[in-house]
Parts: sequence; structure tokens; C-alpha cells
Amino acid sequence: MPNYTLIGPIRQLLTMRGLGAKGSLQDSQLEIITEAGIFLKDEKIHEIGSYWDIYPEAQSIGAKMETLQGDFVALPGFVDCHTHICFAGSRAKDFAMRNTGKSYLEIANSGGGIWDTLTQTRKASLEQLVKLTVKRANSHLTDGVTTTEVKSGYGLSVAEEIKMLQAIKQANSETAADLIPTCLAAHICPKDFESSAKEYLEIISNELFSILKSENLSNRIDAFIEDSAFSADDIAAYFHKAKDFGFDITVHADQFHVGGSAVAVAFGAISADHLESSTDKEIELLANSDTVAVALPGASIGLGMAFTPARKLLDAGASLAIASDWNPGSAPMGDLLMQASILGTFEKLSNAEVLAGITCRAAAALGLSDRGSIAVGKLADILLFQTSDYREITYHQGKLKPAMVFKRGVKI
Ligand SMILES: [Zn+2]
Repeated sequence: MPNYTLIGPIRQLLTMRGLGAKGSLQDSQLEIITEAGIFLKDEKIHEIGSYWDIYPEAQSIGAKMETLQGDFVALPGFVDCHTHICFAGSRAKDFAMRNTGKSYLEIANSGGGIWDTLTQTRKASLEQLVKLTVKRANSHLTDGVTTTEVKSGYGLSVAEEIKMLQAIKQANSETAADLIPTCLAAHICPKDFESSAKEYLEIISNELFSILKSENLSNRIDAFIEDSAFSADDIAAYFHKAKDFGFDITVHADQFHVGGSAVAVAFGAISADHLESSTDKEIELLANSDTVAVALPGASIGLGMAFTPARKLLDAGASLAIASDWNPGSAPMGDLLMQASILGTFEKLSNAEVLAGITCRAAAALGLSDRGSIAVGKLADILLFQTSDYREITYHQGKLKPAMVFKRGVKI
């Protein structure tokens, strides 16, 4: 027997459906159903519409009634399409040093930087990594993030990358949130690897790619293209091989120097993330592609750097998702709604653009067509905010959290 649940009456239901995949959005384009009901059948949405129209049917089949007292706004569950929440240790010392003007090199030389996280993460057991990842995923879930992408990339050897991806897989089975794993073995060339970056990537692709497939550890390959990481030339053979295996490609692009976004577009990447340094040329390239541009305001806030040119990207016609980049080095905050709201104020984004960036467009950045909007047949990932006006959500800049979260039809 299926489980039926009726949620409502909802003052404003924002479906987030029917919005274009690319380009700027006005709030007037948002579909808002008032006095709405959402009728669930198991983990999916069975029907949406007027609460009082659905009510008799729900009552006649003995559906569970989630009757709401007071004013609520419903949104689809948030999707965070770029995080690094599988890590051990803290980089509070780096943060303090950076804020007193110490350089990247000075921080690295004092034992900080990515190598510190790598050392702590390698030292951690699989069980410890699972526990840390579940804890962060659950905190995100309470804040309304029902789907979280999680990258490896602090292992940087075949065995250690497998350990991280196994930890992410295990964590996925221990949290109600959905975790989408991405292999970021091409994060940097590890300093304990005694040959060229190209050789490192060759070993990873030769030995790791087939294991990712056979053990179902990830369908996504990411690489950091940057002066301090891998060059476009380094990465070409790696991405060709990834494509041969059928992986989706995503790129850490244009964070400090341009170059990565052109590689992303050339390889038909599903997303190009960061883009803080993108100029009009890169913006144009992305706008003329199907690659989703992903802004990571948490990294800009953490590093005290310029934001991704979100307004320009949208005006040029690109698709824009917004993600937290939650990681111990540059983006330790891990509050997607707060970061997206703040990006909105600096980049002059409409509510529709901010909310699409963390729902439907973020789902597209992960290639997930079963979520990101509230529509019949989609997953019942639903947030209820206690307010009468959806505009209150970004106005409170992340302080107004969802009062209720449903994940796959289950109230968290
Ligand atoms: Zn990242």
C-alpha cells in the first residue's frame, strides 16, 4: 500500500517549474499557487493545486494530513551542487594568518594550506570520515539542502581517493539527504608524487577510472584548472579519457586566472564552477554553451575576494547555479541560503535568479531531472518557511530557516 500525505494549506507554493534553463529571470516569472496543497505518494509528488480541491480525494483514501497552522511558503528542497564536506581537521589557523596579510606561500610554509587538510584526511579512518560527512550533510539538511554534491580530492592517491569516495557512499546511506559523489583526484598534483602532473593524471585515469565505474563510486570527474594546480594542457588527455568512460565532467575554472572555463566548454562540461576572474570573453563562451556556470559566494566571503560576475553571466544568457563550496580552507561557513542571498545583494539578482540558482538550475548542474522543482512526478523534497511572503526568505539573508523539511516524502 502506498503512503499518501497531503501538506497544506500553503499560503504561497513556489513551484520553480517552467523557468528557462538559461538567462536572467524576473520575479513575475515565478509560478505561485496560493492556498495550495501538495499531495505526496511515497517519495514523489502525486498532485499539486488548490488545497481544498485536493482535500476530498486525500481524505477519501485515508491520506496522512500534514495540516499547517499559520502562514507558510513552500519551495523545492535546495540543491548544493559543489561542496568538499568530506574532510578532517580545521584550517582556522590559515584563516587567521590570511586575515593578517600572510601570503598563500607563507601559510603553506607554516604547515597550512591544502596539504594540511590532505594530511588530516589521509590520517582519518573511513569511519571517521563517514561520521564527519554525515554530520555536515545533516546540518545542511536542517537548513533545507536536501541534495548535496560531495567531492573527493583530499586523498590524491588511488587508494586514498577510493577511501574518500567510499566514505561519501557510506555517508549517503546514513543520512536522509542525497549525496552526489564527484571524483576530484585532479585537485592539485600531490607534492609527494615524484614526477610530472601529466604522469600523475595518467596513473589516476589508468588505475582509478575503472574502479569508480565498477564499484559505483562516482559518475563525475572534476579538475582544478589553475596556475597552482593543473594547466589546460595537463588536463586534456585526462578529460578525453574521462569522456571515453562516460563520466560527466565539471571544472574548477577561472578562480584566480582565466583558462578553465574554455576547457569546460570545449569538453562539454556539465558545469564550470568559481569564475571569479572570468572576463567578458569567458562569459560569452559560457553563455553560448550548455555548461552551467556555478557561483561560489562562500569562497569569495572566506577569501575576501570579488564575487563571480553573476549578473553579467545571466544577462549574457548563461545558466547560473549557486553553491556553497563548503570546504575547510576557503569556505568553512557552509550556509547555502545565506551565501546565495548575499550574492544576490552584491550582484543585483532577482529572487527568481537566487532561488533558481539553488533549486532547478543547481539540479541541472548535477544532471538531475527528478528534483529542483515542485511538480507531479518529482521527488517530494519540500521546504516550508514560516512566512506569508516568499520575498522574506532572501530578505532575511539566510537567517530565516525552513520550519519543516520533507526529504523524499519523509518529514525530517
Ligand atoms: Zn571547490
